[in-house]
Amino acid sequence: MKHRIDKQSVETGLAPSHSLKRIANSERPTTIDQRPMIKSPRGTRDLLPPDTALWNFVEATVRDVFRAYNFHEIRTPIFESTELFARGVGEDTDIVSKEMFTWEDPPRLFEQYKKFYQDVTAAIIEGRLPAGGYRPLSDLAGSQSLTLRPENTAGIVRAYIEHKLWERGLNKFFSIGPMFRRERPQKGRYRQFYQIDAEVIGPAAAGSQSPARDAEILELVATLLDRVGITHWTLELNSVGCPADRVKFNEALQQALAPVVATMCADCQRRAVTNPLRVFDCKVPQDQPIIATLPTISQFLDEACRTHYEEVKQILNSVEIPYVENPRLVRGLDYYTRTAFEFTHGALGAQNAILGGGRYDGLSEALGGPPAPGIGFAIGEDRLVLTLSATASAESVVRQPDVYIAPLGAGMNREAARVARELRRHDLVVDLGDESFRLKKSFEAADKMGARYILIVGENEVAADAFALKHLASGEQLTIPRTELAQRILRK
Ligand code: AMP
Repeated sequence: MKHRIDKQSVETGLAPSHSLKRIANSERPTTIDQRPMIKSPRGTRDLLPPDTALWNFVEATVRDVFRAYNFHEIRTPIFESTELFARGVGEDTDIVSKEMFTWEDPPRLFEQYKKFYQDVTAAIIEGRLPAGGYRPLSDLAGSQSLTLRPENTAGIVRAYIEHKLWERGLNKFFSIGPMFRRERPQKGRYRQFYQIDAEVIGPAAAGSQSPARDAEILELVATLLDRVGITHWTLELNSVGCPADRVKFNEALQQALAPVVATMCADCQRRAVTNPLRVFDCKVPQDQPIIATLPTISQFLDEACRTHYEEVKQILNSVEIPYVENPRLVRGLDYYTRTAFEFTHGALGAQNAILGGGRYDGLSEALGGPPAPGIGFAIGEDRLVLTLSATASAESVVRQPDVYIAPLGAGMNREAARVARELRRHDLVVDLGDESFRLKKSFEAADKMGARYILIVGENEVAADAFALKHLASGEQLTIPRTELAQRILRK
């Protein structure tokens, strides 16, 4: 029976008026289709097959590449204490000031005894208990502010400090997982999205500050994009210097902005006061001609930073990785030093950055750790898959079933299950129908899932211990003994 949605009951949440009649007719009243539908929250989405095959293909390829560069996986929690991001990402960044999913997490004990404390507090106020001698509620609450991670560098550096990973020398980490930002969703921009992160971090004595590490990580990204099948990427490169360079640069920027900032967007007016470097993040078209006239950081690099940047470029030239210098490329986060980079791709439109990254030599200290120079990047996996889907269909990377088994007639499901188990031991992809299906229906199902062969398991076949195997594309049909089935199907 097909159920129709009853508008009145959806709105009122009450059983429809005719439900009594249904009961009288001894029909079972259904409520399932009368509830409002629940959708995934704004900015999140379900990744479904066959698209998930593209995601798996990307992740498997990425893991292979990381292995070749001797990177190892790290998995950190999806939520961390809010302070980690406030300190590690910077309180005046858009991420921290506007986009974090944050909540207060009171201890369970407090939850349990909340009523008790409310009663005690009321008794004190009403004079039934003497005031004084009690610890204030806030102490006892010990509540913690937690945040869903908006990025993963801060979490990885926190783990580096917490586990004293400098004792291992240079650490080369990668991680793959979801990030959360409360942004306005649009194509390529989500509230839950996925990043592939890599971080190289360790004591300077272990070579963590060397320009060779910067060049190696850039080469790794280039290899990774090539291997995934993304061509026509552009590597944009810059050096944002060290904190001392930036003080000088900020002063110069402030001076250059002073006469023109009043004509710029509200965000730029704020940035000019709080952090002039961020003016370069501005995407407002009217502001771009002004931004084009501002001084660039390259004019303010000290000797050491300049040499470092030169050496990165020399190594890139030597391994033949193309790049374009973009002196206006600054990263949105406070802890970046020296090398800053972005890989972009034309196919992505407005959201054209596939990934961004750079060096963050001061981050460990900002998080209470020892000096630990580092460099890393985060690839937006959603955008990587989006770019890839323009050239590769999910179907092209899915392994279609090698064989579809059609059990034919009563009692054949158990025989089919046995054959399937034997074939799967040979690493064949096997799917099965049901003994109640007519042969025509099994053929349709096998076709629909793109199986190469269909195998008939009926009473006669079981008795003969040999099965009808039909190649779907050519229509060729053979009877194959059970013991030879796997080898036959493995032959393309
Ligand atoms: P960021 O951590 O801001 O440097 O971002 C690194 C990469 O993550 C970007 O280049 C994007 O590809 C991706 N990314 C950042 N925010 C989002 C988002 N809201 N939705 C999808 N991808 C994102």
